[in-house]
Amino acid sequence: MFISHLHYRLIGKRMRLVGLTGGISSGKSTVSNLFKAHGILVVDADVVARDVLRKGTGGWKKVVSAFGEEILQPDGEVDRPILGQIVFSDPGKRQLLNRLLAPYISSGIFWEILKLWMKGTKVIVLDIPLLFEAKMDRWTKPIIVVWVDPGTQLQRLMARDGSSEEDAQNRINAQMSLDLKRRKADIVIDNTGSLDELNEEFQKVLCEVTKPLTWTEFGLSRQGALSVLISTIVGVTFCRNIFNNNSRL
Ligand code: ADP
Repeated sequence: MFISHLHYRLIGKRMRLVGLTGGISSGKSTVSNLFKAHGILVVDADVVARDVLRKGTGGWKKVVSAFGEEILQPDGEVDRPILGQIVFSDPGKRQLLNRLLAPYISSGIFWEILKLWMKGTKVIVLDIPLLFEAKMDRWTKPIIVVWVDPGTQLQRLMARDGSSEEDAQNRINAQMSLDLKRRKADIVIDNTGSLDELNEEFQKVLCEVTKPLTWTEFGLSRQGALSVLISTIVGVTFCRNIFNNNSRL
């Protein structure tokens, strides 16, 4: 009974970090919402990025000193549309903004993961638009890329944001190519079809993501880490006993 209870505890508290990414308007947020609707916890890098730019934070100070007070609203918060216009029309400034905020965003994501890990969450989806660019794909398995064909991507972006074709195309061109991201993926969700087709494909992905953990993933879990610690202590005690027994011989 003790063993089956222990087994239940070990199985019940494992953790998998799933990477979810895509290109602008490829349908990443739509897939992220499907995960949430199925009870999977999602850490959203865009939400973390918003938090690290709140008035008075370290990220806010760095960005204000680099871009000047003209990016601020009267209440002192960053005026995101203005900052967006500046960085989307200038690749150098975009890189600068990414460089300034990257450490704050990664540590924000890390803390979110840690909080969920402490609670014993089994599967966490990391919804990170710049998963590959920020090299955070190292920490996630499987990596899911939401892909669409270029024409559909452009049409959906224009429809969603009400932007002109030129503006939408510039935003797409400013990103790492979706085909390159596709080649780096473990799982590709082709979102060129209808929402019903997406839902159908998503069900298969959900099965893949929620299947039992591998031993490596288990080792990363809180219980896995505890097991390693316990086996190390047990191992050291066992070795000491052998050593003591031997020295008595
Ligand atoms: P991302 O988060 O990758 O930028 P979104 O999930 O916001 O992309 O999707 C972009 C737009 O396309 C949204 O308006 C969304 O409702 C729409 N959309 C996503 N998937 C489909 C689909 N399979 N069929 C039709 N519209 C879709």
